[in-house]
Amino acid sequence: MKNQKVRVRFAPSPTGPLHMGGLRTALFNYLFARQHSGVFILRIEDTDLNRFVPGTEEYIMESLEWCGIEVDEGVKKGGTFAPYRQSERKEFYREHAGMLVHEGKAYYAFDLPEELEAKREEAKRNGQENFQYDLHSRMQMRNSLTMDQAATKQWLASGKPYVIRFRIPENRELHFHDIIRGEVSVDSNTLDDKVLYKSDGMPTYHLANIVDDYLMEISHVIRGEEWLPSLPLHILIYEAFGWEPPVFAHLPLLLKPSGQGKLSKRDGDKMGFPVFPLEWNGPDGETAQGYRESGYYPEAFVNILAMLGWNPGTDQEIFSMEELIRAFSIERVNKSGARFDPEKARWYNHHYLQQRPAEILAAEFKTILGNKGIRTADDRLVKLVNMVKERLSFVHEMWNETWFFFRAPEQYDEQVVKKRWNAETPGMMKKVRSRLEGIHLFTAAEMEHSLKSFMEEEGLGMGQVMNALRLAVVGTLAGPGMFDICEWIGKEETLRRIDRAIATIRV
Ligand code: GLU
Repeated sequence: MKNQKVRVRFAPSPTGPLHMGGLRTALFNYLFARQHSGVFILRIEDTDLNRFVPGTEEYIMESLEWCGIEVDEGVKKGGTFAPYRQSERKEFYREHAGMLVHEGKAYYAFDLPEELEAKREEAKRNGQENFQYDLHSRMQMRNSLTMDQAATKQWLASGKPYVIRFRIPENRELHFHDIIRGEVSVDSNTLDDKVLYKSDGMPTYHLANIVDDYLMEISHVIRGEEWLPSLPLHILIYEAFGWEPPVFAHLPLLLKPSGQGKLSKRDGDKMGFPVFPLEWNGPDGETAQGYRESGYYPEAFVNILAMLGWNPGTDQEIFSMEELIRAFSIERVNKSGARFDPEKARWYNHHYLQQRPAEILAAEFKTILGNKGIRTADDRLVKLVNMVKERLSFVHEMWNETWFFFRAPEQYDEQVVKKRWNAETPGMMKKVRSRLEGIHLFTAAEMEHSLKSFMEEEGLGMGQVMNALRLAVVGTLAGPGMFDICEWIGKEETLRRIDRAIATIRV
């Protein structure tokens, strides 16, 4: 193994949009590849024609691209081991299934659907959980083990449907190693003779996956925990071909925010967070929200994914892709499920938003304003961003934090009015107005200076003046520094808002 080049693959099936768990698998493979100067391969496993969903392959590639996960070999990109789409590799699977049959390690099975159904019924009647095609039952079935050669040949020549099943070797105590799980052992007699090759001329996942991993010289298989139960079968298939298996690592499941059960799209819908990298609009009308469209930055999303099931062994939580490549180690991936925390996800985005230059955030906000028909000079937007940035986790929250810079309030918060606006307030606000009007250079510093001396002269408290002013300008007690707001909207607008408040607020 030492001298073998690291070659890993991400092998999704195009059966729907890629869940964030799938993307985490891709990321861990990618980090591992980069860290070992290896190769990251994208292989599309589209052998299940019934489950194929158009558009998924493009979705997968776009998701990887958005995250900055670069494919070295694969569909679209090409490579020495092309094609990378399994539906274009049928002859390899046919040939290899044939090899196993030839050596007695697999066999043809001709059982009719109704015969299999009858067996299932019988098993149920006998109190078994389900019927298993295995060492106990295979000799009672219609297959090339129970039929003579002539009958088998005849069946095959007649063009009637058949499958090829793997013949699980008997009485074997199987031991194998997984980097994350450690030692795993299984009694081969508990395994069933899985179908390798289907009647539609397509291989099953098991055969295609192993043949391709071998032919594509995959060194490490890093994939989701849901494939762990298939590992004994896979090890036996490698053995049947006389191939050395790759090293295996099965990643832990992503769990619901409660920690109970697998994270699903429904959890996201219920609690209002995305479970998919990109928005999905399926051909059947199915839709899903995406991290990208929800305002997450790809750096944040990658960081979120990396921390799901892996930890660096230190307190560090923020990692760029480069840092992840250096720090990642597959040995530090946990065995137990990784609980997804939507609050923590927001926290990551907040962090990455704070790192963004104000000019970039201003440009992002400009698009949102444009959609509302509002145009503002770039340098003014930059100033605005700097005033509220700290409160933001997403750029789309910006409007909520700043709408009163663009529009005068139409209502005044009743609670605040009750507490902060009394019979004397209009009179006081008239004086405030004339002070402000007298300021030549309408800056926050000048306003502060002028109103401070006003308060001293009049014997007024800070709260009395400032809360009333904020109510007049913003409509409630929210927003950044009062004088910063006034400076930004300008003298004329500030005075207009004060006038309007004096005229409309009733006590
Ligand atoms: N096509 C399988 C999937 O979609 C790949 C599993 C594996 O990596 O072996 O999960």
